[in-house]
Amino acid sequence: MNSYSLFRRSRLRLALWYAGVMGVILSVSGLGMYRAMVQTKWAGMEREIESIPGTLHDSVEPLLPPSEEPTAVLQQIFPDLCVSGQPCKATPTLIQRHTIGISDRTTYYIRLFNHQGKLLAFSPNQPLSLPPTLNRNSWQTFRTAKGIRYHQFTTILHSANADSSWGYLQIGRTLEHFDGEIRRIRWIMAIGLPIALSLVATSSWWLSGLAMQPIYQSYQQQQQFTANAAHELRSPLASLLATVEAILRIPQSNQQDIQIMLHTVERQGRRLSHLIADLLLLTSLEQNSGAKPFQPCCLNDLVSDLTEEFLELATAADINLTCQIPPCEVYTLGNESQLYRLVSNLIANAIQYTPRGGYVTVSLVKGDYTAVIAVKDTGIGIVPADQKRIFDRFYRVDGDRSRKTGGTGLGLAIAMAIAQKHQASLKVESQVGKGSIFTLEVL
Ligand code: ADP
Repeated sequence: MNSYSLFRRSRLRLALWYAGVMGVILSVSGLGMYRAMVQTKWAGMEREIESIPGTLHDSVEPLLPPSEEPTAVLQQIFPDLCVSGQPCKATPTLIQRHTIGISDRTTYYIRLFNHQGKLLAFSPNQPLSLPPTLNRNSWQTFRTAKGIRYHQFTTILHSANADSSWGYLQIGRTLEHFDGEIRRIRWIMAIGLPIALSLVATSSWWLSGLAMQPIYQSYQQQQQFTANAAHELRSPLASLLATVEAILRIPQSNQQDIQIMLHTVERQGRRLSHLIADLLLLTSLEQNSGAKPFQPCCLNDLVSDLTEEFLELATAADINLTCQIPPCEVYTLGNESQLYRLVSNLIANAIQYTPRGGYVTVSLVKGDYTAVIAVKDTGIGIVPADQKRIFDRFYRVDGDRSRKTGGTGLGLAIAMAIAQKHQASLKVESQVGKGSIFTLEVL
């Protein structure tokens, strides 16, 4: 499987996980909200229904007749109700009187039963399919043949001068409006949820692309690095093998030639070992493996030690190497050997890329919160386009020249990795033909 399809599959998997998790969260919270809404509406409606018998109850109970056949009296108390077994001519105003403040007053009906459960009276708008017998459950919900739902509440009535129950009062209402609203909410959810889920899926795909981007870039960089490292190792190894083969073919008597060629082998071996050491250092810097805790390092000592160390090399190259150090001691927290390596790479480069008779100055300046080490040369300079790339691994401005002088193309990459580890900034300013200045600003 090539890397592109591997990353595409990983992106797809990530997007599916994102979409799945977000979809579940969205659906669960949507359903939760739906249930909460339905329950609130239902509870409100039950409270509304319950409030009607509450008011009726108190005003009607003292008037209830004790007789077994209360029809005549009932007609007086409830002139708006139809009495069972008699033609119904009443208008439904009783409920209206007792439901002041309820928005839809025509939706309620009332029924009166005697204590045996026989229907005595009812309001004319009661559902036709309602049975004349009493169901004693407090709350009931039923559906008529037309599919309209009703919800009703039954309460016991006591007459004023009797201890036992007089009968039952039943108040109900149609759920048409309630069901209509629930249907509307369901429709909104049925349309809104898939739209929200498809938006989640699209954004998941986009987000997983964003998440994969740095991984993909780092993977490509790693691949590029491996390819470059293999290439850099192959060339010295091939020439080393060729030299060894040539030595083997030279007659033993020709000791002088053998000596010269063994020196070449040694040089090539050293170059290889140098390259491998640089690669290992870069890897350990990246992995932060075996890192010692940061300690106070005296930057004055660092600059003067390194200037002294490179003095011989600079003299041999006919370069004037000097350093400028402030009288007070400047300290920073860091890994001393790594900081030495960083600055020595900069000084080595300055000497390497400065023609004979040039100047290299290493200076240390203390700021308010930072310290700056600058390595300035009067060398060949770097064109602006290359200034951005010289810190890349294996990047050389002039490959052949750099290789000939023993450069691996890793010096500045190592310097940058060390600087980053110390949260320091490493910058270059350069003018072609005039020279360069590398500045390291440490905390
Ligand atoms: P190398 O081992 O090839 O010197 P570096 O990573 O140290 O690799 O440097 C990368 C490139 O940056 C070099 O090939 C060189 O062209 C350029 N460079 C670095 N320092 C200087 C300098 N002081 N003056 C001019 N060019 C420089």
